[in-house]
Amino acid sequence: MMSQPRTTPSLLLLPLLLWLPWLPHILGQNVPFEYHEYSQVTQVLREFHQNYSDITHLYSIGRSVQGRELWVIAISDNPTVHEVGEPEVQYVGNIHGNEVIGKEMLLHLLEYLTDGYGNNDTISGYLNTTRVHILPAMNPDGLQGSLEGDCYSSIGRENARSYDLNRNFPDKFEVNTQPIQPETEAIMNWTRNIPFSLSAIFHGGAMVANYPWDNTPYGQSGPSIYSRSPDDDIYRHLALTYSQNHGNMHEGDVCSGDFFEDGISNGADWYPLRGGMQDWVYIHGDCLTITLEVSCCKYPTQDKLRDHWVWNKNSLIELLLQVHRGIKGQVFINGTDTPVSGATVTIGDRDNSFHTTSAGEFWRILIPGQYSVTVSKAGYSSETRTVTVPGNLTFSAVIEDFYLVENGTNSALNASESTTGEYTTETSPTATVGREARHLAGNGCRLQMADYLVTLLNGALIMLICINHVLYTD
Ligand SMILES: [Zn+2]
Repeated sequence: MMSQPRTTPSLLLLPLLLWLPWLPHILGQNVPFEYHEYSQVTQVLREFHQNYSDITHLYSIGRSVQGRELWVIAISDNPTVHEVGEPEVQYVGNIHGNEVIGKEMLLHLLEYLTDGYGNNDTISGYLNTTRVHILPAMNPDGLQGSLEGDCYSSIGRENARSYDLNRNFPDKFEVNTQPIQPETEAIMNWTRNIPFSLSAIFHGGAMVANYPWDNTPYGQSGPSIYSRSPDDDIYRHLALTYSQNHGNMHEGDVCSGDFFEDGISNGADWYPLRGGMQDWVYIHGDCLTITLEVSCCKYPTQDKLRDHWVWNKNSLIELLLQVHRGIKGQVFINGTDTPVSGATVTIGDRDNSFHTTSAGEFWRILIPGQYSVTVSKAGYSSETRTVTVPGNLTFSAVIEDFYLVENGTNSALNASESTTGEYTTETSPTATVGREARHLAGNGCRLQMADYLVTLLNGALIMLICINHVLYTD
């Protein structure tokens, strides 16, 4: 850069001076390897939002007990909105205030993603097809009371009312009598409002990728046993994705006294706990959620931060990419573009269902293989389809849209659904024909007419005539 002549203390230098605060960003040095207390986290998020306003959205999901905003930064090509079909990822740090490495890793991840957009094909492709939400500090009140270098104590672990936030969620297996804390409630509302399909929660004090369930039918006072969730296969894959891409987590014995084969563990197999966040988000968010313990020492000294970033960087990215594994799609009323919300999407005989959004969307992250996928809702026919999930990973899961036919006259099916509240598992011929009808007729073929068609007319030729009739009379 040319220097200005110094004959006068020229005001011409003023524009340059105004640029100085932004110099670190221009040089790609946004986040130093230094700890960020709450106010500094807020400042970093604000600066990134200012510098990358096109691809970031800064918002608060609520306040801590002591009134600190729980800031989230979303990163995507259209960061302020949910784009139909685009998966959403949730990364949450610092749920325990004294476990701080996750918070710092998430700030570095923010830098890596924003700097990479437009410069790195993988990051650009990913952010064009995905929205990533980062909450660096879920427990900022606890953070403020924590001490650098304190590896083992629980000072700062809890929120300002002395509640452990990772014991504060409603539990699948036993009653949790703890009053729900503001931080917990903020997470619950956030998770209900955005259709996350992948989530990771960062802790410290061990080195392991841990997956549901965290509790067991015997409760947290029961034995440590493998508490298998319906999505155990994909959970093991997600946990392994993190541990095997991590600098040393996969070794399994990084922290003295612990051994985790391949650096992963079922939550309850390690130790059962009641009221954990990952089980709740999995159940109520229809979201695959894992817990990442990313440092042996809960609050290591600052000089370790660079090493941790080197170890975690690939894991953080590779885990993000997994959100495009499996299948996704939308569910519509047959013959229309009207989405069906609250339909259940069930994979094979897995004992759980995910639910469609208000736009009829669903996501199911799955390992490669063949799956029987059933979509159903009370009052509609169900549809089952076989879907192959490939091994290669792109920026989209396999897209499978479904078209459900309303049960107008099929009283047997209606009765079955009203008594069980469950789906049927047989392929519905009405749905199949209805889907074809939609393809032929495009928009406009009404439900009842589709039922009418299937019931009364068996030949494809006659069906086409009827569709024409619908189109021109409705
Ligand atoms: Zn923790």
